Amino acid sequence: MFVNKNNPYGSSKKILGIIAILSIIFFVFSYSVYNLFISKIEENNITSVKTSLERISTQNVERVNEIFSSTINKMNNIADIARDYLDMPQEDIVKGLYNIVEIEGFYNLGLTNRDGVCITTLDERLQLGQYDYIKECFEGAYGFTESQLSEDGRANLNIFYVPVYNNEGEIPYVLTATYTSKAMSSLLDITSYEQQGNSVVVDSNSNMINRTLVSTDKDLNIFDKPAQYADTYKVFSENFEKSDKGYVTYTYANQKYIAYYSQLKYENWYLITYVPYNNVFNVANNNTVLLKNAMNYVRIFVSCLMAVIFLAYIHYTKKFNDYIYKDSVTKKHNYTYLKRIFSNFSDEENNKKAICVMDIDNFKIVNTRFGKEAGDNVIIKVYKAFTEMLPNDSIYRDTGDLFVCTINYDNINDITDKLNLFMDKIDSEIALRNIPYIHISVGIALYKNYDSIDSAFNDALIAKSKIKGNLKRFYNFTNKEERELIEESKEIEARFNDALKKQEFEVWYQPKYDGRTGKIVGAEALVRWKKEDGTIVPPNKFIPVYENNGQIIELDMEVLRLTCENIYNLKKKGVKLVPISVNLSRFQVENGDFERNLLDIIKKYDITPQDIQFELTETKMFNSEKIMRLISVLKKHNFEVHMDDFGTGVSGLQTLSNYEFDVAKIDKSFIDRIGEKKFDSIIKGMIVLCQNLDVQVVAEGIETKEQSDFLESNGCYVFQGYYYSKPVPEEEFNKLMEDSNNIDDSEK
Ligand code: C2E
Ligand code: CA
Ligand code: CA
Repeated sequence: MFVNKNNPYGSSKKILGIIAILSIIFFVFSYSVYNLFISKIEENNITSVKTSLERISTQNVERVNEIFSSTINKMNNIADIARDYLDMPQEDIVKGLYNIVEIEGFYNLGLTNRDGVCITTLDERLQLGQYDYIKECFEGAYGFTESQLSEDGRANLNIFYVPVYNNEGEIPYVLTATYTSKAMSSLLDITSYEQQGNSVVVDSNSNMINRTLVSTDKDLNIFDKPAQYADTYKVFSENFEKSDKGYVTYTYANQKYIAYYSQLKYENWYLITYVPYNNVFNVANNNTVLLKNAMNYVRIFVSCLMAVIFLAYIHYTKKFNDYIYKDSVTKKHNYTYLKRIFSNFSDEENNKKAICVMDIDNFKIVNTRFGKEAGDNVIIKVYKAFTEMLPNDSIYRDTGDLFVCTINYDNINDITDKLNLFMDKIDSEIALRNIPYIHISVGIALYKNYDSIDSAFNDALIAKSKIKGNLKRFYNFTNKEERELIEESKEIEARFNDALKKQEFEVWYQPKYDGRTGKIVGAEALVRWKKEDGTIVPPNKFIPVYENNGQIIELDMEVLRLTCENIYNLKKKGVKLVPISVNLSRFQVENGDFERNLLDIIKKYDITPQDIQFELTETKMFNSEKIMRLISVLKKHNFEVHMDDFGTGVSGLQTLSNYEFDVAKIDKSFIDRIGEKKFDSIIKGMIVLCQNLDVQVVAEGIETKEQSDFLESNGCYVFQGYYYSKPVPEEEFNKLMEDSNNIDDSEK
């Protein structure tokens, strides 16, 4: 089977790794370049924000200075003109100013006398003596006030004031001019940055920066909240001391601001222009955003490109590997693949493998007679027959009709047993006319005798060519194995009589359980050869040899005798027993003395039909008349006959209906594959078939709970398998019987 560690695509993994690492490097690199780039841009932005802030601020300062000085100049001119009319009553002087108000665009002009009485061009009469600026002005000061509410409370006003001198150099009046703050602020339209920024005029009093020249509808930032922002004011005033212009950054309402201040020409005032740091940054940033996006697009593009390269690489590597390692007809791995993965297995694993080379002798004829498509179909069917019958082994196509298989074995017989299974399947495919008649020859080499798969392959190829066209034999071992096999068989053959005499053959028992009750309902007698040195030889080592030379007939009878003897002894002890089934080889049909042998034994040990049953394996090699006779002998004496290995024969259905079997025993090779959809339904079908033919169904080789549950839920209840119990030596089995008797007794 194809397991991960045998992945031949290993080297491409390395390259994939390199691509992945390169991608990571690219990402890290591009990310840091990107960050560096972005931080450079940000730095530039800050510089450009500062520069533009400074420029706007400077413009504003000039403007404010100009407005102040031109207004003050104008008023000084008016005061000069007024000097000539100072003898007139205050009201009359004011009347003379009416024209000027209109011409200069003032809100009004006013004249305040030393008693603090002010008469305005709007004919108002106000008392202003209490205001500091009026007092200061009578001392000779001039200037303007911060924004303040008008006396009638209707408008915010900015008041410019100059002293009016008489010819004696005294100051009988103070001239005031008023702008509405609104008009003033439009004169000083010093908002900037898309209305985000603003300018204010403040005095230098270190922590009292609240003298706003203009009052707007706007939130005046920190500048009208002196108590709350005393710390920030302090920063400003500290800066004022150091330099007459500069930057200050501060936070207001959770937003960072950048401000530029510069000293005005009048008083000791400063104009501060401020903007929210982020907004400015973003405005100035529009280009950066574009650049950022552009860079991101580049990154995405390069990433996609890499991904495409990556996928293309995987795709083509896979294609390339498929080209090398896959066979175009079966669409499965080829011999090159086997060679590639073989070294990945441990020596221990490989030494248990046989390398089998097989080809179809008459493949050329199939191809020329039925066409290439039929030829391909044969290849596919051969491949499928193998994988279906031998799921734990592997088959690979080489070229043409040549296949290479690896078969796992413990004993050499396992290999031929498995190949027989496969060959039976091929025969049934031929019989069902799924494929035309073909003949397959197989050469077998045991990997443990070689040091490379190629040398094993070559030897197997030679072994195969020696039997090509031989219709009597379809497989052949290489010389080495041949010798080994022959020697082993010879020894087994030679030892038979001796072993029989020395009672080296013993019977082990494997219980059968009823899955519903968990109780033992039967057992199978299985022969073991216990050699003098104590080693236990399993039956598949020696039975094929004895089947070959006919000694199996005698061995079967010995097993039957030993089983009956044990039953007799147990019964004598009063132990209640379950029926025990005894295997009869297919060669028993050649035993002319079978009935006599049987009767001798059952008589001697007082055996009833409830005590023993017989298991017979159905094969196509059976001569049906002979087997019929054997079965009828058993039936005549009322013994149950079980069909062993049900499902592996050519036509289980026919056999089952033609002969009088009482029980069908589903073969382990089906049980092994419970869980595979196809096999699940085959097994269900087998159970239904048995039920319809009134044949009891038993399953052997149950190794898991899942298998047991599946069978039980589908109507098969009698189980034999390692999940319940392995075959156990006679002594152990007898104890099991005695114990279950005790339980039964105590239950009563
Ligand atoms: P079989 O008649 O099909 O017997 C069942 C075999 O499957 C036994 O192997 C048993 O140990 C094994 N088995 C049962 N349950 C499980 C399981 O859950 N997992 C696995 N892996 N194996 C399980 P054993 O005893 O080695 O016998 C092998 C074969 O030798 C038998 O197959 C039978 O064909 C033959 N055999 C054994 N004793 C005799 C005999 O006295 N006479 C003849 N003619 N053949 C015999
Ligand atoms: Ca059996
Ligand atoms: Ca069996």
